[in-house]
Amino acid sequence: MSLSCLFCRIAKREIPAEFLEETDDFVAFKDTNPQAPQHILIIPREHIGSLSDAADSHAPLLGRGLMLAPKLAKRFGLETGFRVVINSGAQAGQTVFHLHIHVLGGRTFRWPPG
Ligand code: 5GP
Ligand code: ZN
Repeated sequence: MSLSCLFCRIAKREIPAEFLEETDDFVAFKDTNPQAPQHILIIPREHIGSLSDAADSHAPLLGRGLMLAPKLAKRFGLETGFRVVINSGAQAGQTVFHLHIHVLGGRTFRWPPG
């Protein structure tokens, strides 16, 4: 846990967020600056700075987090399609350095993303 980390503080409910799911090792909540009609963030309770900072030993944890994406997508009616994004590193657009999985849906996406 990083004392100053925004997402650690959200996970500990020190900072409010619109929570959608809580498991033993993950929380999911709405993004405050949504890039789609549905924009959900899934974060591990454990502080991992980015995907690049994850260890091989995190693989089962990350698998559980990833599998929350289709579960939440189904709950929010995104059966026709949703996008899962992990930005790793500043050049990739990561702005909060606590690993998080974006789940976006409710509109059509282009590929490549640009
Ligand atoms: P990144 O750019 O690091 O991949 O994604 C960070 C995401 O966190 C952004 O989509 C941003 O809108 C979201 N975000 C930043 N601050 C907050 C906050 O205080 N609360 C919530 N719910 N989302 C946040
Ligand atoms: Zn953190």
